[in-house]
Amino acid sequence: MSHTSEKTPAELFATPVQFLKGVGPQHAELLAKLDLHTARDVIFFFPRDYQDLTDLTDVSELSEESLVRVHGTVVELDQRNTSSGGTMLGALVRCTGGNIRALWFNQPFMVRRLPPGQELLLSGKAKWRGGIWEMVHPDVKWIDSDDTDARGKVLPVYPLTEALSQPAIRRIVAGVVETLVGHLDEVFPAEFLEAHNLAPIREAVEQIHNPANRESLARARRRFVYQELLVMQLALAIKRHTQHELRRAPPLAATAKIDARIRRLFPFELTPGQNKMIDEIAADMAREHPMNRLLQGDVGSGKTAVAVYALLLAIAHGQQAALMAPTELLARQHAGTIEGFLTASRVRWGLLTGALSPAERRDTLAKIAAGELDLVVGTQAIVQADVEFAKLGLVVIDEQHKFGVRQRASLKQAGLDPHYLVMTATPIPRTVAMTMFGDLDVSTLRDAPPGRQTVHTYLATPEQREKWWDFFRRKLREGRQGYVVVPLVESSEDAAATSIDQSYESLANGPLEAFRLALVHGRMSAAEKATVMDDFRRGATQVLVSTTVVEVGVDVPNATLLAIESGQCFGLAQLHQLRGRISRGAYPGYCCVFAEPISPESQKRLESFARSTDGFELAEIDFLLRGPGDLLGTRQHGMPPLRIADPVADAAVLEEARRDAQQLVAADPGLAHPEHERLRRMVLVRYGQVLDLGDVG
Ligand code: ADP
Ligand code: MG
Repeated sequence: MSHTSEKTPAELFATPVQFLKGVGPQHAELLAKLDLHTARDVIFFFPRDYQDLTDLTDVSELSEESLVRVHGTVVELDQRNTSSGGTMLGALVRCTGGNIRALWFNQPFMVRRLPPGQELLLSGKAKWRGGIWEMVHPDVKWIDSDDTDARGKVLPVYPLTEALSQPAIRRIVAGVVETLVGHLDEVFPAEFLEAHNLAPIREAVEQIHNPANRESLARARRRFVYQELLVMQLALAIKRHTQHELRRAPPLAATAKIDARIRRLFPFELTPGQNKMIDEIAADMAREHPMNRLLQGDVGSGKTAVAVYALLLAIAHGQQAALMAPTELLARQHAGTIEGFLTASRVRWGLLTGALSPAERRDTLAKIAAGELDLVVGTQAIVQADVEFAKLGLVVIDEQHKFGVRQRASLKQAGLDPHYLVMTATPIPRTVAMTMFGDLDVSTLRDAPPGRQTVHTYLATPEQREKWWDFFRRKLREGRQGYVVVPLVESSEDAAATSIDQSYESLANGPLEAFRLALVHGRMSAAEKATVMDDFRRGATQVLVSTTVVEVGVDVPNATLLAIESGQCFGLAQLHQLRGRISRGAYPGYCCVFAEPISPESQKRLESFARSTDGFELAEIDFLLRGPGDLLGTRQHGMPPLRIADPVADAAVLEEARRDAQQLVAADPGLAHPEHERLRRMVLVRYGQVLDLGDVG
């Protein structure tokens, strides 16, 4: 890079990559594919992994059964069949101080990955066998290095997708860091760094790309993790502040009189858990700022009753309330439930879904606008542009298992904002609640209403099919009902998965021949589905063969049997939702999962499912099995992905960043203090648009 001295730091960092030392036009193209366009991008292009060539073991000093790491080069391979019909691959690896023979059984594909001359880092236990040290299935790292002596270093491994080699990108990054690191400005005041045990930016950049050792790497990484999480938590805290403190909603307190009047409507005593939720919600609604609360609780934990309480509380104050469900089916079911609760009340309510005729719709909209409906139950149809409420005090959104909370309905309304309550049946691990839902208050309903039945869950082998259907038939004859759930797949997509039509045919002409079956799936119209569900609810149909449409909230207490086909196609949360369908009545539930063929990951998932009925435990397991990226569904939420922090592994830093962010925003809501200027800019650049933080700018 020439003329360094004439440019401002900002200009230096904005230098296009092709003008960087050692980067030609070809490299520049490859870098662009990695989204690296400027010097700044390169400096903050973090390694995804490291190859630690410090503390290596010298082969002459190996001892039996201790864990070792050796560094060497593949010399030759030998491959043979074993007496048991498998394959064995041996690699002779020349290391410092001697040779090692690494062995792989039944992994013939490893041949391609071990060309002679390849540098490796092997970790594992070594055994002295037949005159040589052997390692069976060692952990391997492929060293891609043109460094003649990488020994003693911790090499960065960058997330490359293209024809760019690790040595090439290492050289490029090292060059940019060397030239520019001295121009980097610190975001945090010195005392802040000190107090939070954070490496200064220049040290952190140097050490993240070229660590002196593991400790300095950990310190550098911690700084960036903290910074990334702090910026995210600041954005959420600001969002929360703007949505809460700066907005006005009607205060709707639960006076003793109102409380008594609402409780009289329930045919049961509310549980202590429900009462706690109600206390939290009522406290929020009593304030003159909008509530923004997430109510999470397992399927069947009694969230609906809590929501109904909140709706009636708003109505008691002369406000309108809306309850929004994700599907027509669920909206109708909620309407049915609410109708049951409201027989002894004068609440005027109506249904607003896509299935209304134009005339019905016009009529309903007119009543909503005139304030002649107190309660509107419906689907997305409620948030359409032409729906205008006279005085909307509360919106309850039943998300069921979806994590779509961020896409909050924006309801048209003059004057005050309504209070918001979102319900979800997917227990959210604490780490997720803090990251994705950091701008919501969270209430958790843990105890189920009394009389909830246990569900016995079996993971069945194909040979157990006959026995299961015997059992299924016996229970049907005793008067119970059941579901058979088949994943929604195009038959060509996954050869192992059964299609719904196939399943229906083979059940109707096979094991369930003597019973009344019905089919329900997503391609049916809302009216068709409603008819089928109604027949099932009345007991006219005994078995419902379905795709996951039954997943969401269908409540038929007499249904106690559940067979799940191709269980490998379902996520843990989904399976748990499905099982929730059969724990609702007076009889114990029986769930049987068929799955084949099955990967180790699916096996683990299904075994966890069979072992535990605790939704919170399963959510944590799911989170660990799938990794945060998937569950957080950042894209679904429109939140930018985290680049370095891992909310699970870095949970402690996350807690710390969250606390600090809340304190900072409480003291300086707009981050207007000059000392916060750079932080504020970082928050706006990264989250300003997605979180709509416009008014903080
Ligand atoms: P969720 O919405 O959390 O899935 P629901 O509110 O639908 O759960 O409740 C599940 C079932 O439990 C419903 O049939 C409901 O009538 C019943 N229920 C709810 N609360 C209580 C309670 N306090 N006592 C007895 N039954 C209850
Ligand atoms: Mg429900």
